[in-house]
Amino acid sequence: MTVQTAKPAALPAFIGGEKKNLIGGKWVPASSGETIPVINPATGGSLGSIAASGSTDVDAAVAAARAAFEGEWSSWTPDQRRKLILKIHDVLLENFDELAMIETLDMGAPLARTKPLSGWTSQVLQFFAGQVGAGTVAAPENSLPGDFLTLRYRPPVGVVGGIIPWNGPLIGLWWIFGPALATGCTAVLKPAEDASLSVLRIAELMTEAGVPDGVINVVTGYGKDAGHALAEHHGVDRIAFTGSVGTAQTIVRASAGNLKRLQLELGGKSPDIVFADADLDKAVPGAAMGVYTNSGQVCVAGTRIFVQRPIHEEFVARMTEFTKTIRVGNGLDPDTQLGPLISQRQLDRVLGYIDVGNKEAKLAAGGNRLGGDHADGFYVEPTVFAGATNDMTIAQEEIFGPVATVIPFDTMDEAITLANATPYGLAGGLWTENLGTAHKVSQAIQAGTVWVNCYGVLDPSIGFGGTKMSGYGWKGGREHVESYLYDKAVYLNLG
Ligand code: NAD
Repeated sequence: MTVQTAKPAALPAFIGGEKKNLIGGKWVPASSGETIPVINPATGGSLGSIAASGSTDVDAAVAAARAAFEGEWSSWTPDQRRKLILKIHDVLLENFDELAMIETLDMGAPLARTKPLSGWTSQVLQFFAGQVGAGTVAAPENSLPGDFLTLRYRPPVGVVGGIIPWNGPLIGLWWIFGPALATGCTAVLKPAEDASLSVLRIAELMTEAGVPDGVINVVTGYGKDAGHALAEHHGVDRIAFTGSVGTAQTIVRASAGNLKRLQLELGGKSPDIVFADADLDKAVPGAAMGVYTNSGQVCVAGTRIFVQRPIHEEFVARMTEFTKTIRVGNGLDPDTQLGPLISQRQLDRVLGYIDVGNKEAKLAAGGNRLGGDHADGFYVEPTVFAGATNDMTIAQEEIFGPVATVIPFDTMDEAITLANATPYGLAGGLWTENLGTAHKVSQAIQAGTVWVNCYGVLDPSIGFGGTKMSGYGWKGGREHVESYLYDKAVYLNLG
């Protein structure tokens, strides 16, 4: 691992000061007047503050979203909505350097990761623009006596509440705003208290692009306050949540009052299986970056690396060498590959798991917090534990940091059994040159996404989701858009 030093860069004018909520087209502070400090995870320094909203603010945002849903927005034609999404696309791409820098400052991911998200943003917005019209009417045959015309509609569900985590708001907000705009729903989004700035700037740009008042609303604040108020609000028809299992369980209970629809994308402890016949030139960096990307703060991170015993030692040695080449530092340096963790809390959590790992397995690389010039930021070295077993704490619990646990195995059946021995089912990967192995194992892994000879690639038109305790509901693809609609039949007696 090498340590990067930040080069000076001009900060976007948006950074600093007190940020407000977007409610009904207006920027308003939390009704309590309270704020939450915004901390730069690379330095521990201040980036201003966001509103610490509560139920009163959520009430106002939901009322604005309801008024917009029942107002002029409902008469927008599909063509108007499609053009609006494409206009947003153009405005965001024009401003993407600024958005990438805001994300880097606010949540730590390096510019090397946030800048290329312009391509992804373009793809996802074009995808949702192409989905406009998913509610198109059909007139199926019927077997009723007499003269009946039967129609099937798919109207928008109404007001959608979005609750997203801090590990990638620049990506996460489109899983709510995209399908909402495509279908004619309206939305209230609560970003994570640790990373709300890029969402707020995007909301500003969306307003400039012509999104009508109240169609999208952003309310910042703590999960237990603003998040909980949104989850239990009777004016919200659907909640799209991304985050931890524990929070999802709270949201399921809070949503029971009006039986709102739920989509839950949760955590994982994904297996990545390296067979003895794998091409290690690809498998070593592929599996390593499958853990380290975004400093390990990725829901699909392949943190349990199962390696077939004949190559276990060689794999660990090569992964250790590869890990030493990774450039960790302030994300403003264009050469940085891994930035800091999001917060002191997350740093403490990851270092706590490293302590556990040191007792359970053998430390092969990393294992420390960065000191020196980086002592004020929340940096941790990419870390490898080897010779582990699947029942260890570091192999069972989601660490959400750059910590890989390497576990030897002997047979394909054993690898499958171990891969599935987790309460999660979000993703998995495998590395092999054998087509039969690739097919059999990818079928057998209980997960919403399986990557073969690659890791972490994602196409919004294909989508992804989880099984088991990683949640339910599909993000991306046609099904995602359809989940923002409900089914309706009309029987017309023509007799
Ligand atoms: P978290 O569950 O603590 O927070 C996620 C969001 O929920 C935040 O906006 C938070 O404010 C809000 N929240 C917290 N308590 C709430 C409550 N009682 N009611 C309503 N909202 C509440 O998760 P986190 O620690 O911020 O994020 C990390 C987790 O997210 C990890 O488990 C990770 O795997 C998961 N994640 C999953 C995906 C996916 O697509 N499957 C993507 C990214 C992150």
